[in-house]
Amino acid sequence: MIFSRWRKPAPPADPQERARAILADVRVPGGQDVVAAGLIQDIAVHDSQVAVSLGVDPRHADAMQPVRAACEQALLASGAFRSASVILTHHRQEAAAPPAPGPAAAAPPPRRAAAHPTKRVHLDGVDAIILVASGKGGVGKSTVATNLALALVALGQRVGLLDGDIHGPSLVRMLGLEGKPESEDGKTILPKQKYGLRCMSIGLMTGADTAMIWRGPMVQSALMQLLGDVAWGELDVLLVDMPPGTGDIQLTMAQQVPLTGAVLVSTPQEVALMDVRRAINMFARTKVPILGVVENMAYFIAPGSQEKSHIFGQGGARRMAEEMQVPFLGEIPLMEKLCAGGDAGTPALTEPDSPEAQPFLQLADNLLQQLGARQRPAPRRDGADDPPQNSV
Ligand code: ADP
Repeated sequence: MIFSRWRKPAPPADPQERARAILADVRVPGGQDVVAAGLIQDIAVHDSQVAVSLGVDPRHADAMQPVRAACEQALLASGAFRSASVILTHHRQEAAAPPAPGPAAAAPPPRRAAAHPTKRVHLDGVDAIILVASGKGGVGKSTVATNLALALVALGQRVGLLDGDIHGPSLVRMLGLEGKPESEDGKTILPKQKYGLRCMSIGLMTGADTAMIWRGPMVQSALMQLLGDVAWGELDVLLVDMPPGTGDIQLTMAQQVPLTGAVLVSTPQEVALMDVRRAINMFARTKVPILGVVENMAYFIAPGSQEKSHIFGQGGARRMAEEMQVPFLGEIPLMEKLCAGGDAGTPALTEPDSPEAQPFLQLADNLLQQLGARQRPAPRRDGADDPPQNSV
């Protein structure tokens, strides 16, 4: 059968091999294909959703963006996957690798931010990049990050919120975000606008159900990509809701992003405080200033009562902050509405006059004092029940 030579071979049954075969048809500048050029670092497939990381020399990351987009397009166009995310990762053998051909290889990387010449991500229009971190999961870090961001908006700041907690990207739920992020120029991603915030979640890129297939290095790269590729515009503050813990992701952020500082969220229990001490030490080693510690779920006021019940212990985070000589930013009580609002996509701060909003407004005020920022006058509100502006 003379034509059998031309018949396309059946696609590989293994989904990772299938993805690899598809990527073998995508060319990189210079003529090779993505597979032959050795760019593929990792392929993860779950439930017909594929995530791929391509290892590139960071000096050529911009030039490789079209290749990244072409890979995504090829994977989707194949019909083999219902979603595809391709990210560029820092090539590990960068130092040993010979310079790639082309004009970009000859020119040294531009130094846009003289104060941080060694940092990889520069956000020109952003005055302060602040990590919201915690030693362990479940302490209310995302709840604090979201409401703190909205409190800063209520105090007249221009605020961005990046949800970098890939294994629990709760911002999508807490703010009721919907739809894949869009791009006008094919290069930068437009942030979502909600309740006056500019926000982006890793969950919007991957779909909450794919998050678990992302591995550590892929998460780091995705976070860097989101920081750098989102068109944040002019911001007074960009808060980054970090994954819990003190691992590689925190370290990479500290090393590669010109951070203004970190806010640490804890609950009053000693086990949580121990983890926060570890986080403070880690940030100190990487020279990231601690802007302050927040004690969440600090106390509970039963309905009809005025009395504070310190059900998890009293004053632990404040004492720990004093011991470690870092600022204490404030206490957030356990509040039923906070939990319900988070689940419903309407955080407490959508009603800035509500009792639930007050501790966050105080927190935001304390944070601004730490930043030494000058507060702009709060936007005029005609009534407490104003519908939130600027929603998606
Ligand atoms: P983390 O980001 O640290 O994993 P979350 O912000 O997702 O934690 O919070 C975990 C759960 O606790 C959520 O259901 C959230 O609504 C609830 N929660 C957080 N802080 C409070 C609070 N102060 N009062 C009541 N519920 C809270």
